[in-house]
Amino acid sequence: MSPLFPALTDPSAGRRPALRFGERALTYDGLAAAAAALAGRIGGAGRVALWATPSLETAVGVVAALSAGVTVVPLNPKSGEGELGHILSDSAPSLVLAAPADGLPSPVRELERVDVDMDGMDGMGGTGGTGSRGSTGGTGGVAAFTPAEAADEDPALVVYTSGTTGPPKGAVIPRRALAATLDALADAWLWTADDVLVHGLPLFHVHGLVLGVLGPLRRGGSVRHLGRFGTDGVARELGDGATMLFGVPTMYHRIAEALPGDPGLAEALAGARLLVSGSAALPVHDHERIAAATGRRVIERYGMTETLMNTSVRADGEARPGTVGVPLPGVELRLVEEDGSPIGAWDGETVGEIQVRGPNLFTGYLNRPDATAAAFTDDGWFRTGDMAVREADGYVRIVGRKATDLIKSGGYKIGAGEIENALLEHPGVREAAVTGEPDGDLGERIVAWIVPADPAAPPGADELAGHVAHRLAPHKRPRVVRHLAALPRNDMGKIMKRALGDA
Ligand code: ATP
Ligand code: MG
Repeated sequence: MSPLFPALTDPSAGRRPALRFGERALTYDGLAAAAAALAGRIGGAGRVALWATPSLETAVGVVAALSAGVTVVPLNPKSGEGELGHILSDSAPSLVLAAPADGLPSPVRELERVDVDMDGMDGMGGTGGTGSRGSTGGTGGVAAFTPAEAADEDPALVVYTSGTTGPPKGAVIPRRALAATLDALADAWLWTADDVLVHGLPLFHVHGLVLGVLGPLRRGGSVRHLGRFGTDGVARELGDGATMLFGVPTMYHRIAEALPGDPGLAEALAGARLLVSGSAALPVHDHERIAAATGRRVIERYGMTETLMNTSVRADGEARPGTVGVPLPGVELRLVEEDGSPIGAWDGETVGEIQVRGPNLFTGYLNRPDATAAAFTDDGWFRTGDMAVREADGYVRIVGRKATDLIKSGGYKIGAGEIENALLEHPGVREAAVTGEPDGDLGERIVAWIVPADPAAPPGADELAGHVAHRLAPHKRPRVVRHLAALPRNDMGKIMKRALGDA
């Protein structure tokens, strides 16, 4: 197939900025040189693990491996030994790529190690300058870069799912899916080589690695990684020429909280071309607060490790709070009833499971033919496990996950998401998660897990039930309210509902 990163072999792109992590940066010339050097050392390695810290080395490692036709298994450096052991024995990489300074824990240490050595490369292009050691084409730059031949269906990445609903599964993502999803996003987001992305996410999931690193590089644009997310870094970079911000809802929540006291942040966000949220539902309350303070609406996109991106609000479309927009170009999407029959109505009310089909899909779970078979229908649709309604104009509104967020109570199917949104509008509620638990009378009763804004004066159960019943419908009111100091969340900020009982 054609190269994944055309700018890496485009002589006119050599001096353009590609990557910046803190003070360290690479132009396309620098990236091509670093990737070529590393690709030469790992070509033929088959499948490699990548110690995916938020660093220049991780970005170079993934580009080098993809350019060498090698499959990458990103590892979360914060994972415990048990999870790393599971991923390594499941994926059996031949070696691990890491930055020279990284210490590796026990199960990873047992692998052959190849350092992503940036000596003499680091600093190429500087933070905006073009003067750089050996980066002006000729040997080592884009002019000399020759990616290995690779086929569309060759596996590019094995990415482990977030483990929100069970042990992480390794999704095998072919090169074709990376290209398809990034090009569909370029269409929807009017994403070009002129875009500069502000990035504050980890690099071992689809959001941070595929969208946040491979996305800008496929366009020939650039990414600036904050190392650790902070609203100060967001304000600084958006105030200094960056055009886009990708974040998870917990980041937009922090932005919403910071905005009233930070006019500089509001100004920087107002000047951005695109603010995108994904990985979990963006609470309507945070969306509205950001819109009120900046005049800008965050757009939501919806994807999964297995499918990459499925839907998005378009950059030139209407960002409707609580919706994830429309299917991306090339993606077929349908809602189905429990018996598998498609739901024709776009009435904004009939809840069904989202199924998708398209070139963005993975090829299967590694070593899990049973789970792979169960995930697809006979005619090739992927069962997402996410429940949604469609509005009259095709916008998709996710109501929650089938496994944890769909509550069957008193004959109704109720999505946790809209109740969480309603609870978050109550001034006494800082965070909210809604679940169902068995009830002799109702089948399931609605339980609200609340982090109160003021722990000394948490809102009462009757108060919250009345608040929800008034906004939604009486049958959607929580019957039980439980207070917590914090919700259990994973490193992407997703609420781990299966851990709520033990919290
Ligand atoms: P696991 O599959 O291991 O339980 P996970 O499903 O959280 O973990 P990911 O593949 O990282 O792993 O996440 C995909 C899921 O994230 C989707 O199925 C959906 O439930 C949720 N999601 C992603 N984007 C959005 C969004 N914009 N709105 C609501 N939910 C979203
Ligand atoms: Mg999942």
